[in-house]
Amino acid sequence: MDHFAYRNGVLHAEDVPLPVIAAEVGTPVYVYSKATLVRHARVFREAVAVAGRHHIAFAVKSNPNIAVLRVLAREGYGADVVSGGELDRALAAGMAAEDIVFSGVGKTEAELAHGLECGIGQFNIELEAEGAALARIASAMGKTATAVLRVNPDVDAGTHAKISTGKAENKFGVPIGDAPAIFARLAALDGLNMRGVAVHIGSMVADLDPLAAAFERVGELVTELRAAGHTITHVDLGGGIGVPYRPHDRLPTPAQYGEMVARVTKDWGVTLMFEPGRVICGNAGILMTRVIWVKPGVVRPFVVVDAAMNDLARPALYEAYHHFQAVEPGEGTFDANIVGPVCESTDTFAMGRTIDLVEPGDLAVFRTAGAYGATMASTYNSRALVPEVLVDGDRYAVVADRILPATIMAAERVPDWLD
Ligand SMILES: *Cc1c(COP(=O)(O)O)cnc(C)c1O
Repeated sequence: MDHFAYRNGVLHAEDVPLPVIAAEVGTPVYVYSKATLVRHARVFREAVAVAGRHHIAFAVKSNPNIAVLRVLAREGYGADVVSGGELDRALAAGMAAEDIVFSGVGKTEAELAHGLECGIGQFNIELEAEGAALARIASAMGKTATAVLRVNPDVDAGTHAKISTGKAENKFGVPIGDAPAIFARLAALDGLNMRGVAVHIGSMVADLDPLAAAFERVGELVTELRAAGHTITHVDLGGGIGVPYRPHDRLPTPAQYGEMVARVTKDWGVTLMFEPGRVICGNAGILMTRVIWVKPGVVRPFVVVDAAMNDLARPALYEAYHHFQAVEPGEGTFDANIVGPVCESTDTFAMGRTIDLVEPGDLAVFRTAGAYGATMASTYNSRALVPEVLVDGDRYAVVADRILPATIMAAERVPDWLD
């Protein structure tokens, strides 16, 4: 459920007509609904609460805007960060350091030290050498790092190959079969408190079975680690639940996910950690754009919009579907290709889709753009960095400015020796 709906034929974000935002901020622009974020945060928390003690760390990479993070911090969410930059954002947004989990396959020693200095709650270790480095850095600082070992359960999440993370060939975690030996070696190090294990098999998982299979393997590992004398108090189950992108998509609900987790983990006796991203913010955002041209094509017309792959990369990256709607739809529909202005054929949002009839100058939106949208934006083709707006009831604020090409260019220089 989200708070983007038509009223008197005009698409609104909560109580704000989208044309009002377009007039003031321009297009393209991301628009987020605070009520939707809050609703999703609460629905997810209620869903996983049936599984017992838990901690929820929002996956910052899905939407790192500090206003979005502030909304979630107020809902009691912590953060799952994958870089020092994301860690600083989570802190700037008001998340408590102890509620922050540091994931990521390539944390540098400087990032590990920064996490320790900030006093973050948990490091998710991706390989033995990283754990050893963390132990050494923590000892040198006179600290103890709290950590879990990320395992790769070799389960196919059934998602797009480019967002799958839990198969043996993926770069994430240690092979689950090697985990007991690695865990034992890390647990013996000074400076490291190994309290559990972590798993995350991929994103946009549309079926609960692979998640349940992965969690069952983790449960067996917990039993094995305890039998070896280790104290396991935390298991991090990652994120990955999908959201509906097409109007008729049917995905597992957070409640069904929570019931599955409760069933699989009922005898574990641990605090469960969750790292949801997309399911919290995906449907809480849209990308608003304006039609520049409707260009005749040999097969069907091209709707050329002012948003492009640099603003919303998912279609170009993973052939992702984003539902397209006119902000003030008229009567008809037509079959069209929707493309952006960037000089790449992959700058295509949809081919041969039946959409609202639009004309040059019309406003339209790509739905479900709140996750992995603005955060992946670039300035390719010397386009501006897309701005972001947060709506709350009948008020709204620009929560990230449009960064103009001139500002980007100001950070570049021509060395004297070229003259
Ligand atoms: C990306 C990621 C998540 C969030 O994934 P979603 O599909 O957005 O829920 C959680 N944990 C880790 C380790 C990740 O890399």
